[in-house]
Amino acid sequence: MKFDKLVGIIGWPVSHSLSPAMHNRAFLSLGLEGWCYVAMPVASEPISRVKDAVFGLRALQYRGANVTVPHKETVVPYMDRLSKTARAIGAVNTIVIDQQGQLVGHNTDALGFTNDLHDHQIDVKNMHVLVLGAGGSAKAVVYGLLSQGCKNISVENRTKSKARDLVQPFRHQFKDAKLNIDVSIDDKKQAHLVVNTTSLGMSDTREQMPWDQNLVFKSEQIVYDLIYNPPTTTFLAFAKKNKAKAINGLGMLVHQGALSFTLWTGQNAPIAAMKSAAEEALLQRDFF
Ligand code: NAP
Repeated sequence: MKFDKLVGIIGWPVSHSLSPAMHNRAFLSLGLEGWCYVAMPVASEPISRVKDAVFGLRALQYRGANVTVPHKETVVPYMDRLSKTARAIGAVNTIVIDQQGQLVGHNTDALGFTNDLHDHQIDVKNMHVLVLGAGGSAKAVVYGLLSQGCKNISVENRTKSKARDLVQPFRHQFKDAKLNIDVSIDDKKQAHLVVNTTSLGMSDTREQMPWDQNLVFKSEQIVYDLIYNPPTTTFLAFAKKNKAKAINGLGMLVHQGALSFTLWTGQNAPIAAMKSAAEEALLQRDFF
């Protein structure tokens, strides 16, 4: 078979990524000929590697690529244009290479997250949401929440200055929203939705959680963990034990991928097929 419509993912590491399984299943399921999605490991050092990789996509006539940790912010200056969302978040997770060879940077993480909330019938408009973490994914989550009309968000991060830097630009953009970084015990007890965007709970921190175990959840609280490997983190297990609603990040992964798929192909993504492929690929992975 001739593959002449190439897309893929650049990041480090990418060998564990579920995206190749998800996108190649989507191409197959819609009978899109010539499309293929590949994993492309790109090291951070020297920094010129990332630039070479991005410009290499154009030279190799790729249709686009996903960008994952740790390059989402690094690739921004190499884009010819940015979508409004990518500019607001300051990070790109999807590159589209248009017919003129221009590199267009998008960010589908924010809408991927809120589309998954929508799937779970969660309307954040009148909610107080507590976001744990202030890294790249936290920016997308906060922007997604604000875009959906959420007006009360608290951000807690180990490094407080990063939480301050995260909320500052959004304070100008979303003037009627309350963005708090001095998170109290009451904020934690009263938050309707708690979102973990830290990497605590993955790989060598699998036994840990970003939450004090003396602080019990109420059954009406919702706990969302962006981590999907392991599918039930220590944090989600704790939430479940407290009878709170617990959701992992697989739905967000599928939705951000579905949005990228549409940007590249112009077709509606076969979301159910992509979700099955991601779940199957996850079963074949070791927890890392
Ligand atoms: P990142 O930019 O590196 O940010 C990591 C965050 O975790 C920072 O806030 C960091 O705090 C915090 N952190 C790390 N180790 C910690 C520790 N030992 N104790 C307390 N806080 C700690 O990473 P990211 O891109 O935001 O990704 C974060 C997680 O989200 C990853 O697990 C990633 O797989 C997941 N994710 C999932 C999806 C999805 O589609 N489901 C999408 C994107 C990301 P400091 O600022 O203090 O260092």
